[in-house]
Amino acid sequence: MTSSISESIAAIRASLPASVRLIAVSKHKPIELMREAYSAGIRDFGESRIQEAASKQTQLQDLPDITWHFLGNLQSNKAKKALELFDWIHSVDNLPIAQRLDTLAQQLGVSPLVCLQVKILPDPNKSGWMIPELLADLPTLNQYKNLQIQGLMTIPPRGLDDGEIVNVFHRTHQLAQEIASQNWTRIKMQHLSMGMSGDYQWAVKAGATMVRLGTILFGQRT
Ligand SMILES: *Cc1c(COP(=O)(O)O)cnc(C)c1O
Repeated sequence: MTSSISESIAAIRASLPASVRLIAVSKHKPIELMREAYSAGIRDFGESRIQEAASKQTQLQDLPDITWHFLGNLQSNKAKKALELFDWIHSVDNLPIAQRLDTLAQQLGVSPLVCLQVKILPDPNKSGWMIPELLADLPTLNQYKNLQIQGLMTIPPRGLDDGEIVNVFHRTHQLAQEIASQNWTRIKMQHLSMGMSGDYQWAVKAGATMVRLGTILFGQRT
């Protein structure tokens, strides 16, 4: 019997450069499908809700080598739980939450890997820094000793045409290069978390190092 998840994973993996990390976004999907993805070689799972992730991690304790990625909007009162559950937080989207994560990380004795979520275009439906605000906040972000800032994350606004989406990814890459050239002591720009099921091929062409794929692996979320 063939499994469509393992086939999708194999096909997508084969189409990606070896250096690009494939994060399987399993939000709203049952753990049976996650086990199937695991069997097909997936070791990176993305979730966007703390409660759901906590429950899944308990049920998947027998799979010890999973890297967990948090992708959702992070409320301040969930920050501690996020640090306990996740290796990566892709969606650090403002200075107060970054500060809070840094303080809590120190208390917990952890050094989370994080991306700074940036909005290249204004988008009322998404959180994240606009470019000028991010550049202005870098000196403060560079002081957070417990966060390992690894790069940028972006999600293009809905409704863009293909050329505009490509442009968003290129500008995100350029922004990362600009920040890298400033030689911050703590802020690293080694990763670009960009690309979802509908646009990941363009993101990879623009330099994505991590793609976050849900629908194309697991089917539509209900
Ligand atoms: C849900 C989600 C994804 C996956 O989206 P698909 O279109 O299903 O691939 C990727 N990134 C983030 C931040 C998400 O919330």
